[in-house]
Amino acid sequence: MPSLGPADRPPSVDALARSITDVGLPHPMLVDAARSAIAAGSPESAHGIALATSRRMLRPVINGTGTILHTNLGRAPVAVHQAERYTNLELDLTTGGRGSRMATAGDLIARACGAEKAIIVNNCAAAVLLVLGGLADGRDVVVSRSELVEIGGGFRIPDVMARGGANLIEVGTTNRTRVADFAKAVDDPATDVGVVLRVHQSNYKIVGFTEAPTTAQLAGLDAPLVADIGSGLLDSRCPWLQGGPPGWLAEEPAARQTLAAGAGLVAFSGDKLFGGPQAGIIAGDAELVDQCAQHPLARALRPGDLVLGALQDTALAYLREEGNAIPFWRMAALTVEQLRLRAAAFDATGVGDVVDVQSTPGGGTLPGVEMDSVGIARSGDHRDTLRGLDRPIIARVEGDTTYVDLRTVHPEDDATVINALRSLD
Ligand SMILES: *Cc1c(COP(=O)(O)O)cnc(C)c1O
Repeated sequence: MPSLGPADRPPSVDALARSITDVGLPHPMLVDAARSAIAAGSPESAHGIALATSRRMLRPVINGTGTILHTNLGRAPVAVHQAERYTNLELDLTTGGRGSRMATAGDLIARACGAEKAIIVNNCAAAVLLVLGGLADGRDVVVSRSELVEIGGGFRIPDVMARGGANLIEVGTTNRTRVADFAKAVDDPATDVGVVLRVHQSNYKIVGFTEAPTTAQLAGLDAPLVADIGSGLLDSRCPWLQGGPPGWLAEEPAARQTLAAGAGLVAFSGDKLFGGPQAGIIAGDAELVDQCAQHPLARALRPGDLVLGALQDTALAYLREEGNAIPFWRMAALTVEQLRLRAAAFDATGVGDVVDVQSTPGGGTLPGVEMDSVGIARSGDHRDTLRGLDRPIIARVEGDTTYVDLRTVHPEDDATVINALRSLD
């Protein structure tokens, strides 16, 4: 940093800002950093403050944690292909008339999960909000007490219902709810049930003395069944994976099978097990989907063409049954043998020890599920150093050892990780 004038006089904000242009931020951001530094009585800290600001901006990071859907790292990684060009977002190229932005990716997803129709909103929380607004505004919604959940980030089902204008009717108990409990509420002449809601227990489990009605039982009631399956598994048979469904999927509910069992609608996230960009999908019976689409909230919750384009690519990969084209499934399907082959390159350079580790699907899905994986271990806690690199590497520490799980590292980044580990010496 150049000299800033006599030591007994504070430097001018502008001069200080001009002395830290190497950080590469626009001038107003450098001025803010300079101002904070001067206010804190340490002008020399301006450079560090500006650097911290710069590092808050979005950039690619290398996920070495082994958590495939890492909420802090944007859940499912996706490629976005779009040049600086217009798109036919709301133009029907065949007729020249107005097209529907909700339809394109929605039609493909509907085809892939056996729904009559699907529409896209910003996330699954928005999907649930819109479904309740569209089907149960001012009406009753019946939910089991075992499913009145908080998903994370303050998404609480009872609160969402209140926002959606619906009145909550709780039935059953925390551990046991029967179809008769639902039927009693639906058939009660004093109620006006717009929706029977089922919410997937994504991030917790109730074990022991439990009971819950099947989807088919609930679908037989005299009100539309909406299933918030959250995690977005499209089809429990996983036809996009050569080896079929992996064992760890176990009893995860899937969109296709939930609809086939009679649910009127399913709602799910685009960026969990679906493996696409952040989005929420409402799929099922065409009339019910239309009721949601016509609600005034729909416009406030609709995504733009960047998201819809990435979702379309993901849906096409499902229809082609190409799991390898979906980063989540490509990583999830990696075998220990494949990972060992990659680990050999790390071993050969001596930058760390090749060890067995456990990956997790993450994203608040499949609690307790672990997959055998292969990692590189270095003694000591190196998280801060690795995170501080230009290509930040997010590693995991257990005991006094730092681990980089190769399952969640893109193979093209292996060389970068090797160099980073070497630089720790
Ligand atoms: C994750 C989840 C949500 C919220 O999904 P977002 O896409 O993050 O809004 C809602 N419901 C269930 C059951 C979930 O698992």
